[in-house]
Order: sequence, then C-alpha cells, then structure tokens
Amino acid sequence: MSFESLGLAPALLRALAEQGYTEPTPIQAGAIPVVLEGHDLLAAAQTGTGKTAAFALPLLQHMSTAGQTMTRRPRALILTPTRELAAQIHDNLRAYGKHLRVSSATIFGGVSMGPQIQALRRGVDIVIATPGRLVDHMQQRTLDLSGIEVLVLDEADRMLDMGFLPSLKRIISALPKQRQTLLFSATFASEIKSLAMQFMHAPREVSVTPANSVATTVSHEVHPVDASRKRDLLLHVLSQDSRRQTLVFSRTKHGADKLVKYLEQSGMRAAAIHGNKSQNARTRALSDFKSGRVTVLVATDIAARGIDIDQLPIVINFDLPMVAEDYVHRIGRTGRAGADGLALSLVSHEESGLLRDIRKLLAQDIAINEVPGFELSSPLRLDAHAPRPKQGPRQPQARPQRQGGASHRPHAHAQQNNGGGEHALGNRKRRPRGRRPAAKA
Ligand code: AMP
Repeated sequence: MSFESLGLAPALLRALAEQGYTEPTPIQAGAIPVVLEGHDLLAAAQTGTGKTAAFALPLLQHMSTAGQTMTRRPRALILTPTRELAAQIHDNLRAYGKHLRVSSATIFGGVSMGPQIQALRRGVDIVIATPGRLVDHMQQRTLDLSGIEVLVLDEADRMLDMGFLPSLKRIISALPKQRQTLLFSATFASEIKSLAMQFMHAPREVSVTPANSVATTVSHEVHPVDASRKRDLLLHVLSQDSRRQTLVFSRTKHGADKLVKYLEQSGMRAAAIHGNKSQNARTRALSDFKSGRVTVLVATDIAARGIDIDQLPIVINFDLPMVAEDYVHRIGRTGRAGADGLALSLVSHEESGLLRDIRKLLAQDIAINEVPGFELSSPLRLDAHAPRPKQGPRQPQARPQRQGGASHRPHAHAQQNNGGGEHALGNRKRRPRGRRPAAKA
C-alpha cells in the first residue's frame, strides 16, 4: 500500500516523502480514501496510530482543490481537547501542507485572544481549536463559522470526558448543516455514538485497533511497592539509565509538582506538565523534554493526552489512573510505530482494584515483579474486593482550558484515607491509617 494509491495530490506526496513517511499506517489507508470521497467518517483510533495525518491529508487536499472561495471565512474546523494537541495538529498541517497554499490558525485558551482575532481577521482556511475558547470567540463574534465545509472532532471521547459536550453542541449547531464531519475517538462509549447519530450523515466507519486495545509491541510490567516507598523506587528505576527519556504519569497536578521537586533534589533533570501550568511553561517543558535537556517529564493524564513524543522506550505510571481507559491512553506514548516499548507501573496495595480493572480491559497479561529492597508489606489483591483509592471517578473537568485560576486538587492525598480498601484489607497489618504516604506528600 502506498500513499499514491490513496489518491493524494503530488504536493502532499512530496511533503510526506520529506517527512520520511514511506507508507500509510492502517488508519490512514482506511480513512483517507473515504474522506476524499466526501463521506462522513467515524474512526476508532488512538494517538500513535497516525490518526492526525488520516484527517489532515484529505483535509488539505480538499482545501487546496475544491471550491476555492474569495471570502476569508474559515472552511474547516478541527476541534481537539487540549492546547498541546491543537498546537501539534497545527504543526502537522504545516508540515504536510508545505507545498500547498492553505493557511491555518490555532485558537485555544490560556493565551490572549488578540493575536487569534487578528489571525481570523486576516483570514485562514483551517481553524484548530479547543472548544472553550472557540465558544468565547463565537460570543464575541470574532469568528464566522458559516463557511465551514469540514468539521473534525479529534479525540472526541476525551472532549466529552473533559465536560465539553455543551460547548460542542453549541459549536456544531452554529455550523452549516451541509458539511463533512469526521469524528476520531479512541473509544466508542454510547455518548460518542449518540453524538455521531445527532450530528453526522451516514458515516462510514473505520476501525484499526479494536476499542481499548494497545500496541502489541508494548510490554506491561508492575512493580508492587508500598505507597510510602514509591518515590524511592521511581528514583531507583530512573537511575538505572539516567540518560533515557522517560515519561512519568501522576494522577494529580499537585503530585506531579511534588515529584518533580523530589527528582530534582535527587539530581535528575525533570519537569512537570499539567493544566495548572501556564501555556509557556507547558511548551517549555515539552520542548526541553524533546530536546533532551530534561530527561523525566512528569505529566497528568489530561496534559499528556495526545502530546507527540516519538517512540519513548518506557512510560512509567507513578500512580495508576482512576479510569482504566486512561491507562491505554497513557501507554500510547510508548511502543509506537512498531518500536518496542515498556509500560511500567508502580502499584501500591491501595491501587490493587485499579490494576484489576486495567488487566480486565487489556485482556493481556501484566508481569508483576517485585524489586528487591522494595517488597510490598502486604500483597496486591486482585479479587473482587481489591481495594482502590477513595476517590470518585475522574472529576468532571469543565472548561479545563481556562486559565487554571483555582487549583483545586481534591485528591492530592487520595490514598491517605483508603476507605475502599478498609474492609478489603481486613486484618492486615498496614501502616497506621491517616498517616500520609510519603509518595504523595
Ligand atoms: P498521531 O497518531 O497522529 O499522533 O501520529 C503518531 C506519530 O506517527 C507522529 O509522530 C506522526 O508524525 C507519525 N506518523 C504518522 N503517519 C506516519 C506514517 N505514515 N509513517 C511514519 N510515521 C507516521
């Protein structure tokens, strides 16, 4: 299978060759012809599958050929959950569209509206936006959506998780009914299906990875460890190869900051990326990590979602995510494009229940290996009563793109009152309840 055979224009083929892409990934092979034919598309694909090019290439082709207009209204709108993802899509569009005359601009929160308004006034073909800020522009009438021919909903599942449904509905209602709609999602929960039913016309479906599956090149390993010793174990793992770029996931923003401080004090070069950081700080952390100035990037789920870091050999879950699907998203950062990857999770007894959920979801074995010197004081239990940190499922994160003002962190110390675990722990001798585990402190 070649890019030529998918019907892409020579200018795009040239750009792809310059990117070093030799053949389409499965999602590209499945989606590009369907999109070029003008159908609506419902695509199941997670980050790392090449999904961005799967919509960006046919979109660029459409923009450069069909219906050139003299107006300066945008003709395509890409909605995506995070600023990082928006910036990354923008970079990809520029790279793929290098030999075409198609312009694009990003619109996201956390930065001033002025330059965005100016870019819109000058006129752009493609707008890449996060929903919250886009609604702000709609309210201020600084954006005219009446010329939109193609709508892309990227990472639709995550946008819904983040509480963007009302904004999405509002935006979509403001678009012309006559348009092409492309929806990409890693998972297809019923809300996504209903969004598709409401806003799409006879969509074709393309699915390259069964929902919730992960790259087969990724191996999974768990190091059981007491919560109070997690930081030391992390340091131990990291110091085995201190030059290796490692992405570490923390469940909370506060936890991420604490961990970075601890790693820095221990002589590692680390940075955090999460929603309470300014846009500048996030961009800097990411570019420092990419350039190797920083070797450990500690991220929360939402901040890490979709960031494009090529082929990391290892991703470490310092905390397991509260929602098993997030594990799949997290480890999408490793084992990409056929390279081997390791997803290593440091799991305390209190997180046993979360591990159990993940094992069920993956339907794949996870090796559980104790590290000498870090043995768990009571074994993980993976039965129906397995404990889990006391914390509801993910807090609704309405409008997370906003300035972050109130840094509410309701579960920075979620493990300390391990309610869910109490009956499950039974008569085990555990650390005195109420003492804050050092790992979270
Ligand atoms: P995405 O799933 O869109 O985040 O893409 C994941 C990574 O794969 C990005 O770094 C892309 O640049 C890269 N990529 C996308 N398509 C191809 C391709 N056909 N060949 C090689 N790399 C690709």
